Amino acid sequence: MDNVIAFNAFASAAGNPKEVSCWLCQRGTSIRALFCQHCGSIQPARALDHFTRLGLERRIDLDQAQLERQYQGLKKALDPQRFAIRGLGERRHAARQLEALEEAYRTLSEPLRRGRYWLELHEKEIDESEVMNPMVAELHAELERAVDAQLCDRIAQRAGQAMEQGIVGLMQALRAQNWSLANSILLEVDGLENLLDDVRRQRGSIKHEPLISRDDVTPIK
Ligand SMILES: [Zn+2]
Repeated sequence: MDNVIAFNAFASAAGNPKEVSCWLCQRGTSIRALFCQHCGSIQPARALDHFTRLGLERRIDLDQAQLERQYQGLKKALDPQRFAIRGLGERRHAARQLEALEEAYRTLSEPLRRGRYWLELHEKEIDESEVMNPMVAELHAELERAVDAQLCDRIAQRAGQAMEQGIVGLMQALRAQNWSLANSILLEVDGLENLLDDVRRQRGSIKHEPLISRDDVTPIK
């Protein structure tokens, strides 16, 4: 819900940092400002896109170290202890700001979330597909036949590698604005994430009792 508001607001705020009124002193302050430049009070969490909230340039290849620095700095400024003796209004705004900051950080620090968010920022709908990616389907089939922990681990390893490659490919596709490729990679990676959940579940049950006997199984190369 908040994201939708953020996107819409971003369109009008982009390139033209809007002024808003401070909730306390009513004087004009930047929509991006955490604190009013006149009275110093904490401002309500405004509708900002995640990049703007973290004071970062809007780029798909963001600088992780810079993201970390910005996040830590803002987090410190929003530390609830700093607002402990402030009024209820300020404490609430600070808490909401911190929440919005955490969400922005969570989204941008994780490549897949960032990729998905990037598509949303560019108003590209993610098309769901009924057809499973062939590689993911193959790994699922192998998992169905996997009776011991070692086979499960091998499948997990392949899925993990495929995910890493997928993330690299996703970033390239987003950089090239190849939205349909980015979309299909996201679906593949989603499929791999689900597969990894299944692998973990299956591996957990194997530890206690084998699902089927070893003789039922054709060996996997
Ligand atoms: Zn003010």
